[in-house]
Amino acid sequence: MTKYSMLSAPDFMPVDRLRAIQNRKFLGVFRRTYENVPWYRELLAKNNVDPNSIQSLADISKLPFIKKTDLRDTYPNGMLATAMDKIVRYHASSGTTGKPIVVPYTREDLDVWSECVSRCLTAYGLDESDVLQVGYGYGLFTGGLGLHDGGTRRGCTVIPISGGNTERHLMLIQDLQVTAVACTPSYFLHVIDLADKVGYDWKATKLRVGIFGAEPWTEEMRRFIEAKTGIRAYDIYGLTEISGPGVGGECSCRTGVHIFEDHFYPEIVDPDTLQPLPDGEMGELVFTTLDKTGMPIIRYRTRDITKLVAEPCPCGRTIRRIARISHRSDDMMIIRGVNVFPGQVESSLLAVDPGLVNYQIHLSKGADGLDVIEVRVELTREKFSELGDNTASLEKFRRQIAEKLKSTVGINFKTTLVEPDSMPRSQGKIKRIFDDRNQQ
Ligand code: ADP
Ligand code: ZN
Repeated sequence: MTKYSMLSAPDFMPVDRLRAIQNRKFLGVFRRTYENVPWYRELLAKNNVDPNSIQSLADISKLPFIKKTDLRDTYPNGMLATAMDKIVRYHASSGTTGKPIVVPYTREDLDVWSECVSRCLTAYGLDESDVLQVGYGYGLFTGGLGLHDGGTRRGCTVIPISGGNTERHLMLIQDLQVTAVACTPSYFLHVIDLADKVGYDWKATKLRVGIFGAEPWTEEMRRFIEAKTGIRAYDIYGLTEISGPGVGGECSCRTGVHIFEDHFYPEIVDPDTLQPLPDGEMGELVFTTLDKTGMPIIRYRTRDITKLVAEPCPCGRTIRRIARISHRSDDMMIIRGVNVFPGQVESSLLAVDPGLVNYQIHLSKGADGLDVIEVRVELTREKFSELGDNTASLEKFRRQIAEKLKSTVGINFKTTLVEPDSMPRSQGKIKRIFDDRNQQ
């Protein structure tokens, strides 16, 4: 067996064998967590769950969920399931306000994590001959070190450039013959933007693969990135609570993100009733870490909305896929009774002009007390030089965008055009939604 197939073997195992492995590991992680985490014992007691009733993976639906707030409440070490001596690293999720969520990792946890990232890289067609430039932030954020360790394990030459210093990104891609970059899609837009300004020749580089994740992005965005640079752009998914990037990744078919089910058991539940949903139905993604020893987590509610795809993938991988994350449940906006997802806004803008990648969504209260949704769109330099002096043409273009948004989403958007280069660029995860409704 070659190194290539050994790395990927768990991706292709027969489903019944996979389920048997999941069953065995699940019982192990449940027992470990129950025995070592007093908080978890209390959680079961509060929910009247008899631990002896958990006899197989089929019993998982008897168990309560773990939420982000539980991790905040037990900050920093309340969910630790092992002695501190075994912990070799902490990471933290970015968190918006208050205490971050910190996650302790044992050596085994780091090992599983790098294995998964390495399996992603294999699926993207990368091997020892590749040079991987990691533009995710290094530090408490899992992006940088996650791709770094996975790239090293895959045998790639890793360039730990981190986020920022975009000139140097472009320079090293050229000088060090980089074949793959990994960063947030929004940061790569920034890289592309600078490349445009300085007349960078992507064709003169060896770059052929982009690994983008840590935030939502659309198919339209993928097409824009690929058309601009000539690379193939792949999705990578993950979250700190479960390990970091590489909980799943796309394969060359790019019809969803394969979840490394032998390590992370996925479920989809109805976000309101919390009842498990069958494969193919949209709902909230829930994970159980099957191997974690530092901070195992059972039935963690990710708040990411997607569906599980069980149909065989043409690539031959038997592990299930998730569809592109539709949205985070906290990112869904309800405007005048209509559900609005940021992805719909992005798709609409890029359908009008594929260069409209810099935009923000602002929510406020109108004079009538009702919600107003405004999309501010940054004009591309090309569009600006084409229309800049002509107020009537600008207004026509603005209307075209407003109409597209209305026809896609079904409500009126206040649509504002802003000048090229006037919006802040992203170094890591981009903030696109600004909700001022409670500050007025
Ligand atoms: P935070 O919750 O503070 O943002 P993380 O860095 O752990 O912390 O981010 C994980 C979240 O990022 C996921 O739950 C998901 O919402 C989002 N995410 C990660 N990868 C992707 C992806 N490929 N597509 C869409 N969303 C993603
Ligand atoms: Zn596949």
